[in-house]
Amino acid sequence: MKLIDLPQLGTKRLNALSESGIKSTLDLLNYFPHRYLDRTTITKIRELRDNSEEVTVVGRIKKIQQKGHGNKKRLEVIIQDDTASLKGVWFKGAHYIRKNLSEGEAVAFFGNVKKYGRYLSIAHPEYEKVSNTSDLSQLKQIMPIYPGNKSLAKTSTTSKLIHQWQKITLKHEKTPEFLPDSIRQSYSLPKRHESYRMIHFPESKSEYQKAFKRFKFEELFLFELSVAKSKHEIIDKHDAPVFEDLGNYTQRFFNTHLPFELTDGQKSALSDIKKDVRSGKQMNRLLQGDVGSGKTIVALGAILMALDNGYQAAFMAPTEILAEQHFRTLSNFLDPLDINIRLLVGNQKKTVRTDILTDLEGGSCDIVVGTHAVIQEQVNFYKLGLAIVDEQHRFGVKQRAEILKKGSHPHVLVMSATPIPRSLAMTLYSDLDISIIKDLPGGRKPVKTAVRHQKKHDEIYNFVEQELNKGGQAYVVYPLVEESEKMDLKDASAGFKKLKKRFSNHEVGLLHGQMKSEEKDAVMLQFINNEVQVLVSTTVIEVGVDVSNASLMIVEHAERFGLSQLHQLRGRIGRGERQSYCILIYGQKVSKEAQFRLRKMAETDDGFQIAEADLELRGPGDFLGTKQSGLPEFKVADIVEDQWILEQAKSEAWKIISNDFNLEQPKHQELKKVFTPYYKKKSKFYGMG
Ligand code: ADP
Ligand code: MG
Repeated sequence: MKLIDLPQLGTKRLNALSESGIKSTLDLLNYFPHRYLDRTTITKIRELRDNSEEVTVVGRIKKIQQKGHGNKKRLEVIIQDDTASLKGVWFKGAHYIRKNLSEGEAVAFFGNVKKYGRYLSIAHPEYEKVSNTSDLSQLKQIMPIYPGNKSLAKTSTTSKLIHQWQKITLKHEKTPEFLPDSIRQSYSLPKRHESYRMIHFPESKSEYQKAFKRFKFEELFLFELSVAKSKHEIIDKHDAPVFEDLGNYTQRFFNTHLPFELTDGQKSALSDIKKDVRSGKQMNRLLQGDVGSGKTIVALGAILMALDNGYQAAFMAPTEILAEQHFRTLSNFLDPLDINIRLLVGNQKKTVRTDILTDLEGGSCDIVVGTHAVIQEQVNFYKLGLAIVDEQHRFGVKQRAEILKKGSHPHVLVMSATPIPRSLAMTLYSDLDISIIKDLPGGRKPVKTAVRHQKKHDEIYNFVEQELNKGGQAYVVYPLVEESEKMDLKDASAGFKKLKKRFSNHEVGLLHGQMKSEEKDAVMLQFINNEVQVLVSTTVIEVGVDVSNASLMIVEHAERFGLSQLHQLRGRIGRGERQSYCILIYGQKVSKEAQFRLRKMAETDDGFQIAEADLELRGPGDFLGTKQSGLPEFKVADIVEDQWILEQAKSEAWKIISNDFNLEQPKHQELKKVFTPYYKKKSKFYGMG
């Protein structure tokens, strides 16, 4: 059957449907209601209360009248049942209602009741004429309401009309089951065809809820199947290096040179890694841990395992400054061991560079630290066994596939300091295993956070001065809004001038997004070396720079920052011996949501709690910052709300792929028909096809 065969459907409506993404009758079936009107209970008007839930009332029209003037102009339709009367009020579309309804007719109204003066009324009620008031069984349904849009409205393609079409479509369209029976039964998912019926013609609330669960499961299941399959295809089919021997370097370092006791989180991450690198399969692990949780040592542990087994390791950072910092840290730790570690960055002399490249290829260089370019450029390794990726933004599937191309299929450890709620991590990094470090190393003083109004600037600056006089350093951050970078630069520059005057006994530096990267690096280095004590900046310092002497983070217009951003900023301090302070300064016009964010910051420093709250406020797309976040889009499922369905779908999908990779078993034939085209599309999207 074609769409055009449906009644009351001509070319105009056909176009409107097409613009709404409905191009076939199957698309129509997949056009789901966004809410339901429960008309199964009819309430007597006398029993209605102000601000009630949605209700259904049935009565006869007593009067239709035009009221008010100008923008108060409205149409009132008064209905009466055997108990009392109520007004339906239309501010728009009065003409249409007048034509449709007449006094004396019986109608049903649906909507939320409000009380104005003595009168109960419903604004813009959904309504339906009642032909026989003694038999209301036709009326007593759960009515799906379909999402509308401009093109649908223009062609009067109403929710009611769509509902009528669904009835015919459901009869004609074949929707064979493709979920294996065993899965359907274990999660009590209704059959596919029955689910469409329950979505469009539910007999109860629990019916459409069950149906929605089925479609969410189906969507997430296909997604997880594709992830599982691509992981098996590009990763697991290669043999990876086996780090069997944890001898010389690893033992010596952890037993005699490690200057502190590992935290439980660090220990368990290391044991996860140990298992991975001995398995013969490539490790693909995400190490998540808040700033300062001590991920570097864990990475170093993995590196030593590689070295013990005669392999090289690469350590990649998002910027050169960070690469240099990692290089210094690692070199210090490795000092007592006889290990050749080199830094590879852009501004090195050609002779130095050639030298490093030669050593890497020849195998005399054990560890190379650099930017992400290390893996992409023509750098040849003698025997690369491990790649560590310290990520700032998402280091995607594509880049990880690049690493794979390096000869020996090295293990990959991705480190992230952005706490990501589990639901997001599961989809975003669905092909990675995850280790989380939740505890911070002992003996560190938690940052003290204060929220202050901007009229307290004098007091705040006095406090800053005290801290500077004691030898501390401070960040002062101004917000950056992309649309008006110039404007914000003005803020930061003005702040810079003001602070230069105020703190004339100290050096004040300025860092902003419009500076060249060498200029930025230069200022940053001055701050690292304590040649600058106050660093005024726009949010460019968000990246994981480590200045352990910095003990103050002053955020101007803190109300304009997102939660995760504030958390990242606060993570810049509290990294040393000194007690650190974060002062969040707010200005005028602070929204309810912004107040909530500031309160949350003062209340907790647990990155995962903050991330969960942020995700709830902003939703997954905005939480991750960009449209190119790599987050798959789901039509029915909501990865935050439906996390437990996601977990079920994931476990089933991965089971199937490990038992029947090509979906050859008879019970998987229907699934294969649906999955094959789905997977083709997906692989193209990830550039793996
Ligand atoms: P991040 O997770 O932000 O990369 P780092 O690895 O830079 O954290 O560690 C932060 C600081 O804590 C470093 O100075 C590091 O030497 C120190 N550190 C790491 N682990 C421990 C520990 N278990 N006990 C004490 N200090 C530790
Ligand atoms: Mg780090």
